[in-house]
Amino acid sequence: MTSNLPHHYREILKELGEDPNREGLLDTPTRAAKAMQYLCHGYSQTVEEIVNGALFASDSDEMVIVKDIELYSLCEHHLLPFIGKAHVAYIPTGKVLGLSKIARIVDMFARRLQIQENLTREIADAIQGITAASGVAVVIEAKHMCMMMRGVEKQNSLMNTSVMLGAFRESSTTRQEFLQLIRRSND
Ligand SMILES: [Zn+2]
Repeated sequence: MTSNLPHHYREILKELGEDPNREGLLDTPTRAAKAMQYLCHGYSQTVEEIVNGALFASDSDEMVIVKDIELYSLCEHHLLPFIGKAHVAYIPTGKVLGLSKIARIVDMFARRLQIQENLTREIADAIQGITAASGVAVVIEAKHMCMMMRGVEKQNSLMNTSVMLGAFRESSTTRQEFLQLIRRSND
């Protein structure tokens, strides 16, 4: 893939006061460009491609939970990483999604520039859209390097976001069941 990114990274190195011709930095613009393209590869994916027909008929209307999905994203304000875990649940109404697909949907949206609130919402809406579930819940807990490495330097602050749709919004019993099931893994 031809890209202007290496050129721009070289310029950034100069602006920062570095010498892009010194040995340790010679290949850095190319490497940094590849890394950034990888971290943003979610832009070239779609939910349809990822699901790819892995939607199966099922009579179950029991809550499906996938906990502790590793999450790596970049904040759109500083282009710095935020990393953490996503917990996803849905209540099927005739169709269930292949389990690995949920993690891949999380990854697709995470591999774009994000704020955590929008990421949480996009995952929930996508799963709702694919499965027509009677409820979808997404909780994300993440640490933001833009808070830890700069500015307020809050080393241990964990940001929590959640989106509850359908039954998870309407029924506190359903919501509590989900929250208890994901809490247990963290103790
Ligand atoms: Zn940030």
